[in-house]
Amino acid sequence: MTAQRTALVVEDEPEIADLVKFHLQREGVEVTTTRSGRRALEIARELSPDLLVLDLMLPDLDGLEVCRRLKEHDETREIPVVMLTARGSEADIVAGIEMGADDYVTKPFSPRVLMARLQNAMRKRVVSTVDHQDGVLLRFGGKLTIDKERHVLTCNGKPVELTITEFDMLYMLAKRPGFVRTRDQIISSVHGPLTVLSQRTIDVHITAIRRKLGEFSDAIETVRGVGYRFSDGQPI
Ligand code: CA
Repeated sequence: MTAQRTALVVEDEPEIADLVKFHLQREGVEVTTTRSGRRALEIARELSPDLLVLDLMLPDLDGLEVCRRLKEHDETREIPVVMLTARGSEADIVAGIEMGADDYVTKPFSPRVLMARLQNAMRKRVVSTVDHQDGVLLRFGGKLTIDKERHVLTCNGKPVELTITEFDMLYMLAKRPGFVRTRDQIISSVHGPLTVLSQRTIDVHITAIRRKLGEFSDAIETVRGVGYRFSDGQPI
């Protein structure tokens, strides 16, 4: 038996807050709402919700700042954050993702896309815990496996040669399918004493990885203006 899932919706526009709440409740999620960024931080600490839906434009504390503070503290760091942003605000999205937000939905959104992203973020919490314990082997439908320990990628049972940088980039994206990563995040995760990467080289590496993935090349999706993500089969 699973405990009821909980979500905190931080949004100052009542119609949007109600809409998000309605769709979450329909999925059996217990929802708390607030229009205040400061209050959101308190509630997040008290309730430790399974999901936090965060509008970026709030009357008191900016959503990016809320996100930064959540990710700064141990008690709230693991709470998945999905930002609500205006369409065309790629700079905000990049800033939010780099601040530690897990995903975003642009307004106006369709309920289907909204719920796909929110369900996905809630699921991540479970997946990432499991990954921490034995997450050395990622399997995707039994056709694609990424073995972190042995540094081996196999497609349809056949090993595929990747450079160390390519492997690290693929692993970084694949360990959290559906989560967009910015180029800077990719750079800092694979950066080592022997690798110096620029934003442009990231794109070149991604092209090489896609080519080597062959029929699975679609697994790495480009998120325009933001970065890349490993597909989870959901709409972007
Ligand atoms: Ca707002």
